Parts: sequence; structure tokens; C-alpha cells
Amino acid sequence: MIVIMKQSAEQEQIDKLKKEFEEMGLQIHLSQGVNTTLMGLVGDTTKIDIGKVASMDIVEEVKRIQEPYKKANRKFHPQDTVIEVGSAKIGGGNFQVIAGPCSVETPQQICQVAQAVKASGASLLRGGAFKPRTSPYAFQGLRGEGISLLSQAKKETGLPIVTEIMSYEDIDLFDDVDVIQVGARNMQNFELLKQLGKLDKPILLKRGMSATIEEFLMSAEYIMAQGNEKVILCERGIRTFETKTRNTLDMSAVPMLKKLSHLPVMIDPSHATGIPWMVEPMTLAAIAAGADGVMIEVHNDPPKALCDGAQSLRPEQFDSLMKKVQKTAEFFKTL
Ligand code: PEP
Ligand code: MN
Repeated sequence: MIVIMKQSAEQEQIDKLKKEFEEMGLQIHLSQGVNTTLMGLVGDTTKIDIGKVASMDIVEEVKRIQEPYKKANRKFHPQDTVIEVGSAKIGGGNFQVIAGPCSVETPQQICQVAQAVKASGASLLRGGAFKPRTSPYAFQGLRGEGISLLSQAKKETGLPIVTEIMSYEDIDLFDDVDVIQVGARNMQNFELLKQLGKLDKPILLKRGMSATIEEFLMSAEYIMAQGNEKVILCERGIRTFETKTRNTLDMSAVPMLKKLSHLPVMIDPSHATGIPWMVEPMTLAAIAAGADGVMIEVHNDPPKALCDGAQSLRPEQFDSLMKKVQKTAEFFKTL
């Protein structure tokens, strides 16, 4: 339920009403815009007498929210959420690029790629340390050692780091990690989501490969319900009958998610298409679709990569893409 306050409502009156709702066991989510203050009510609102609240002097309107996601809902929070990671602002019309290898492999590899993507204008560094592989015999990642190497690359370049968590047991290794990624395969690992919800750290949540948009938002809600509202949504392609691309990039999810939610939305054109030459057109299309950024796989020697070399860009390809990203983003700002 949302309660829209009148412009004339005084802070003291708003606080008093908020306290009354809290005493009813509800969680209150205040959203203070330039012209309006909204109160989002989460919990069992059936005991609230809507007519009584609507007739209060300080209340403009009361609405029930039909959707099962509340904190992620744009109706609860009309302004875009902007998440600050280092000096990068994610959300609210800032287009940010996360780049780096699929997996962290060696100190030279991660540091070289980090230097290269930084020089081209990426604002965050990615690299998998815990890898969710289809085969148990495939490279599983350097685990804790991989995170230490990411920290080293962060020290050398100043780029904040993004890496995937697969089990909450490993959380102590993530102290220096700036954004924790939840991969597609764990989008509905609800226990993991609940634990991450207790942190004060941005979470990059990838869409499950067969998840609907509503299921995706409900997973974000799991994190937010525990108090962590710093969630970045990432569309990474879904499973369809198509075989020409690794997955099918659901670009229409971008404007839909932006409409339904205030959370930042990114796309991952590398995992979505699995084809390096498709990364550039899909990145430019993401700008046009209104995405807040992209996550791109870049490797210094793709044929030798231990994971996903076939879809990775070389640093010089990434550099040429970034020049187009800058021009395209500037162009769209003028529209
Ligand atoms: C990744 O980003 O390294 C990854 C494994 O992606 P996804 O979870 O989208 O498959
Ligand atoms: Mn990968």
C-alpha cells in the first residue's frame, strides 16, 4: 500500500503517522521527492482502514499495490535509484561499463586486462573467482586466490571490483569486493538472497535463464526485504528455441524493468549472445533501450582463456566499442 502525502504535510505529522503504522507491525519505506512524499507500507496491510487514512488532513491519496514486489516497485519509489560504487554512479541515466575476464586466471592476466579496460573508460572491473560451470570437470575458478588477485588489480587501477558469490559460506572472502554478483543459476537461491539482504553492499542480480520478469523482481525483493536496497538488475539472455546465439537477449526487459522498478538495469551482451561481434551492436542497442550500463567480457588472450574465451573481446576491440558507447550515450542525452 502507498500513502501519498499532501504537499502541506509537516515533517512532524509525517513522522507521527509513520510511527502509528510501525506500531501496527508494518515496515515503512519513505520516499521524499521534490514535490511529494510517499509512504510505502510493507507487511499485512489488511487491518488498515483505507477510508480512515484517506480522510486524514495530511493525506492526498491511498493506493493498494497489486504487484507482489513492493520495495522494488517504482510505485513505492518513483525516482530512479542511483547506486554509488567508488566514483561511479549506477542508475538515473548514467551509463556505466563493467568489463573484465570471465574468470580471474593469473596476476598478469587480471592486471593487464584491468589496465586496458580502465584506459578505455570502463568504470568497474569484473572477474569470476567462483565459477558456476555446467561440468564439474571444467575450471572452477581460483576461489579466494582469485579475489586476492582482483584486489591487487583494484589497488593498481583504482577500479572497483565485481565478482560472483555462489555460497554464503565464502562471504568473509568478499570484504574488499565492491559489488557482489549473484549469477543466473542462483537467482532463486532464496537463502543466499536473504543473507545478501543483510549486507550494506551493492548486489548485481542476474536474471535466471528461464525466469519471468516478475520472478526476477521477486528475487530483488528477497534482497531488499532484508534491508539491502542496493540491487542492480542484469538481463543476461534467456533460453528460447533459438540456437544461433548462446541465449536470447531480451532487450524488451530493459524498458519493462525500468517501468516496473526504480532499480538500475544493466545488460550482459557477452553471455546473452556468446558471440564477440554481437557485443557491440547489443551494447549500443542497450543505450537506446534505456539501460543503465553493460557488463562485457574482455580477455587479453581469448583463445587461451580458461572460460568463455569464445565470447570475449580483445582489449583493442573493447576500446573501439567504448568510443562508440561514448558517442551513442552523448547522442541519446540530446534527444
Ligand atoms: C558470469 O557473469 O560470469 C556468469 C557466469 O554469468 P551468468 O550467471 O549470467 O551465466
Ligand atoms: Mn563468462
